[in-house]
Amino acid sequence: MKFLVGNWKMNTTPEEGMALLEELSQGLTKEVVGDVRVVVAPPSLHLIPVADALLENSQIEIAAQNCHYEDFGAYTGEISAQMLLHSEVDAVILGHSERRQYFSETDDFVALKVKNAIKNHLIPIVCVGEKLEQRNTGTFLEDTWSQLSIALSDLSKDELEDVIIAYEPIWAIGTGEVASPEQVQQMHSFLRRKLKENMGRDDMPILYGGSCKPSNADEIFSQNDVDGGLIGGASLNAEDFMLLVEKLKNS
Ligand code: PEP
Repeated sequence: MKFLVGNWKMNTTPEEGMALLEELSQGLTKEVVGDVRVVVAPPSLHLIPVADALLENSQIEIAAQNCHYEDFGAYTGEISAQMLLHSEVDAVILGHSERRQYFSETDDFVALKVKNAIKNHLIPIVCVGEKLEQRNTGTFLEDTWSQLSIALSDLSKDELEDVIIAYEPIWAIGTGEVASPEQVQQMHSFLRRKLKENMGRDDMPILYGGSCKPSNADEIFSQNDVDGGLIGGASLNAEDFMLLVEKLKNS
């Protein structure tokens, strides 16, 4: 299964968000998307209007960009997986490097969120990836596996079926610097092997994220162990995002 996920981050006013969605809805017909599952992750304030605007036969699924690990409680400013489920949200991005970097989210914290998302029937899109120092010192493979193994550690083999993994090297996110196709393939095949050896299954989709755009997507999407992309900047431009859907479909 191939996935293209657009992470809008903290961008778009409600009007701009709805205009972007409208363009995507019109362009992403059943024929255009083919076997690609297309997901958009707008800011949480836009989730309900976006869900309301999607037609019954829409090819677009909705993800939140984060959620808490409890269902309800005294956690000012947070939203829960349970609330998302009741708002027609299908998936949730968890452990994004910006949450780890700016909001001090740890691997253990991400693991709690992943478990709770699964409990609430949301697809967790679990983000992992190394810092530039880890790539330079050569520990990037094991360090990234460590992040992933902790994030998934509370899940049963059956629960793993519903997980999407996104490999996002931090040095490539929003920097314009994209990982080479070889670097991406090396990490994806390594994670797949580790998943099989340690958790008994390796059939979860593994997406690449980090400055992916139409001009570099072909090479990345054609790698054996790449099942799609998590797209930041280029997901804010409907034309680019739709081009990426087509490229993934044809990969
Ligand atoms: C992201 O934030 O997940 C991302 C991949 O961003 P960008 O495409 O802008 O590098």
